[in-house]
Amino acid sequence: MVKKFDFLVIGSGIAGMSFALKVAHKGKVALICKSELEEANTYFAQGGVASVTNLMVDNFDKHIEDTMIAGDWISDREAVEKVVREAPAQIEALINWGVDFDKNEQGEFDLHREGGHSEFRILHHKDNTGAEIQDSLIKAVKQHPNITVIENQFAIEILTQHHLGFTVTRQTPDTECYGAYVLDPSTGKVDTYLSKVTLMATGGVGAVYQTTTNPLVATGDGIAMVYRAKGTVKDMEFVQFHPTALYHPGDRPSFLITEAMRGYGGVLRTMDGNEFMQKYDARLSLAPRDIVARAIDNEMKNRGDDHVYLDVTHKDPELTKKHFPNIYEKCLSLGIDITKDYIPVAPSAHYLCGGIKVDLDAQSSIKRLYAAGECSCTGLHGGNRLASNSLIEAAVYADAAAKHCLALIDNYAYNENIPDWNDEGTSSPEEMVLITQSMKEVNQIMSTYVGIVRSDLRLKRAWDRLDILYEETESLFKRSVATKEICELRNMINVGYLIMRQAMERKESRGLHYTIDYPHISK
Ligand SMILES: Cc1cc2nc3c(=O)[nH]c(=O)nc-3n(C[C@H](O)[C@H](O)[C@H](O)COP(=O)(O)OP(=O)(O)OC[C@H]3O[C@@H](n4cnc5c(N)ncnc54)[C@H](O)[C@@H]3O)c2cc1C
Repeated sequence: MVKKFDFLVIGSGIAGMSFALKVAHKGKVALICKSELEEANTYFAQGGVASVTNLMVDNFDKHIEDTMIAGDWISDREAVEKVVREAPAQIEALINWGVDFDKNEQGEFDLHREGGHSEFRILHHKDNTGAEIQDSLIKAVKQHPNITVIENQFAIEILTQHHLGFTVTRQTPDTECYGAYVLDPSTGKVDTYLSKVTLMATGGVGAVYQTTTNPLVATGDGIAMVYRAKGTVKDMEFVQFHPTALYHPGDRPSFLITEAMRGYGGVLRTMDGNEFMQKYDARLSLAPRDIVARAIDNEMKNRGDDHVYLDVTHKDPELTKKHFPNIYEKCLSLGIDITKDYIPVAPSAHYLCGGIKVDLDAQSSIKRLYAAGECSCTGLHGGNRLASNSLIEAAVYADAAAKHCLALIDNYAYNENIPDWNDEGTSSPEEMVLITQSMKEVNQIMSTYVGIVRSDLRLKRAWDRLDILYEETESLFKRSVATKEICELRNMINVGYLIMRQAMERKESRGLHYTIDYPHISK
């Protein structure tokens, strides 16, 4: 079936929903997501949103400097300036959509400080800021008469001139996006969504790794779709591992112990109770994530331990419960009273700094295709993301995409020549175990060889193994009807390949990319 919408938005996190709300006055919007609306990285964000707020002590220059330092000086300065300077306006927009950021007794925003930030500038809602944002945006989106929310639909492929029979390469200058093929997993039917403008807002890639804080929808679909459509993808080697996910074997996703807990005074200790961050960085437990994650990885590997501890037992118990009610409850449910016991933590794949390359207007290298949020690479994060800079980046770039496409959309028409999805000659997929086992193998390869510490040898080994999975999966995909599972597997392999290849190309240790063959760290 062919469906036509002025705007096709793929993804229901902060990027997709805030964009939808900003363009909906101009035309019909389809907002699709592959699971329920809530299942997005946005929902899981705990710490908060960075924005310069207290002008008595903070200013844009400080936030810019902190972001450049965290990014290991390879962030795009224009992108950094844009996000930092436009952040307060997007905070305002979020508040207008109903987001309730905590205030203190004086009625001022209760600002947190997190690792790498020189000032208190993190707006938050208790320790579940993401859920507050997601819920508020869902309410606003559902109330908008021009936005059609379509849950449990899986975008498979974006539509370009390739689907009209033309050869499209990465050098083709005017590749255009006309919408996407979208699978309804409940019927197995693939619909053609024609659009004038498409926004890719499919979030991150954590599920490509064995241990991740991301919900398992984070298989990097948007990045893989754009790469296959010959769009530009950048900085994939910079995968951020959150240093302190709750260590509880078997949990997937892993429960996150927010960075704010280190800002609050949490101290890292090895399993014998000793502090260790003094060996790695003068900022101790408040050092940026990559340094802390590598330090923990190193301590765990040297000592043969499965985890380290985060200790807040020296803090006022009532204050701890007040600031971190969810973490307190979650740990208590596992028999850990964080006011008395150390919290077992270990690093976990958390955030992708790279993705679909976009310019300052959120335009990808493919015309009429924008990208925002975690699937995009704006250049803000450079080699490493500063804590709480991602939700605000998504909001700022969704706004940029909205402004840019609103000025142009009247020039665009639907491309009615796109053929229906062709599944001739395919049959129902073979046993599901072929797919699920391959997914586990991708996870193992990525976690074992392409994790926090890399080497040429590990990357080569990963490459060879992933290549076998690639050949098997492409062959299976060609002879099977499309299913969500095979499409996800294909995307995971694509994303794994991109992380690996771009990691091999970077002959230095920088930001989040650390390799023992080029160990010099440029800081
Ligand atoms: C545990 C955790 C804590 C975090 N804490 C913070 C924090 O405190 N501050 C901060 O700034 N950032 C934080 N982050 C990062 C931040 O939450 C994310 O970067 C951000 O929410 C990404 O938003 P997004 O809109 O790009 O994507 P998401 O919110 O991940 O949404 C992706 C959407 O795309 C849809 N989708 C994906 N593939 C397809 C497909 N093929 N077809 C259809 N739909 C598809 C999904 O269904 C989903 O709706 C945290 C992340 C995690 C996991």
